[in-house]
Amino acid sequence: MTDFAATKAKFYLPHGMIYLDGNSLGPMPKEANARVHSMITDEWGQMLITGWNKAGWMGMPTGLGDRIGRLIGAEPGSVVVGDTLSIKVYQAVASALELRPDRKVVLSDSGNFPSDLYMADGLLRSLGPDYELRVVDPEVIAEHISDDVAVLLLTEVDYRTGRMHDMKTLTELAHSNGTVTVWDLAHSAGAIPVHLAECNADFAVGCTYKYLNGGPGAPAFIYVAPRLAEKVRPALSGWLGHEAPFAFNLDYRPGTGIERMRVGTPPVIQMAALASALDIWDTVDMTDVRSRSIELTELFLKRVEATCPDLELASPRDPNERGSQISFRFKEGYAAMQALIARGVIGDFRAPDIMRFGFTPLFIDTADVEQAVEIMSKIMKDMLWDNPEYKIRQRVT
Ligand SMILES: *Cc1c(COP(=O)(O)O)cnc(C)c1O
Repeated sequence: MTDFAATKAKFYLPHGMIYLDGNSLGPMPKEANARVHSMITDEWGQMLITGWNKAGWMGMPTGLGDRIGRLIGAEPGSVVVGDTLSIKVYQAVASALELRPDRKVVLSDSGNFPSDLYMADGLLRSLGPDYELRVVDPEVIAEHISDDVAVLLLTEVDYRTGRMHDMKTLTELAHSNGTVTVWDLAHSAGAIPVHLAECNADFAVGCTYKYLNGGPGAPAFIYVAPRLAEKVRPALSGWLGHEAPFAFNLDYRPGTGIERMRVGTPPVIQMAALASALDIWDTVDMTDVRSRSIELTELFLKRVEATCPDLELASPRDPNERGSQISFRFKEGYAAMQALIARGVIGDFRAPDIMRFGFTPLFIDTADVEQAVEIMSKIMKDMLWDNPEYKIRQRVT
């Protein structure tokens, strides 16, 4: 059994704050401070260029990738860390398309995160006018998987509502139509158990600053199924994905397996922070996370519905159909969220009217949930959100 009191003690959480936004940016592991400090002073400071070998910086992208791999059901040696998620989406879709040179359609859904759609659209534009990004409603995605679709690009858990796609069924359906799958795990990794190998997934990508708590700007990850890893041609063919980067050949030869999905110099300082978060994850079982997460979201939902009649549930009611978040619609949702934040309950707002709350058992417990609802019900009952100060939109919502 995972000891969630122990994991909670390993995070720095500001006094008086109930942090229900680990789905956007996870809190800081207490060890991150010492880890990053040591990386800067003992490694960068003392070793300088020799740190690449002496401190093993060059091996960090695959070392960290394997530790993330355990959490998402990936085979050892099939995950590498680097770049940002948007870049990894581009990279995965480009390589997936090259596996189906006779097809020109990328299929996605309107619940996807805009950046995924923007990146796919940008890629298809540079490939030429024959290529098409087809976006349909998430409810009907299965009906649109047909034998002209090259790539199915889906985010498993909807960032707004938490609605979850059935990875196994959709991947099977895609494969039976000769379609390659790219799964975005931005709201899955560290939130729910993922079984990439078992689902026979082809490509997957995700970020490490949300549920994985790697810190703002922490690098993304990419998974390529081992059966494809030696066939995949990287479109972002940077020198560190080359078979022999330090041979400095003028012709590009892809590296072995997942190594070829590396692009350029990895963010070493940022990876030190991520390593401190993964030290905590190494002690965690994802099935425990899932059962605790369901317990927390069910409690939150039940209490909010009992005390805040003006809020309308935007997430699936069945916990098996949603990830680790609960969202409500409210026409003054932005102001209500600002009122909550002013009182130490941190969630976020997604246009046009979604109040979003993430539940992360590593550092949120039932007492936090009860206290958050108490504050929220007062805000709603006394209309404390109806304050001009709370209606001023900030740059990041
Ligand atoms: C958070 C998120 C992103 C963000 O991409 P970055 O390049 O890390 O800014 C992209 N896609 C999805 C599905 C997300 O949830």
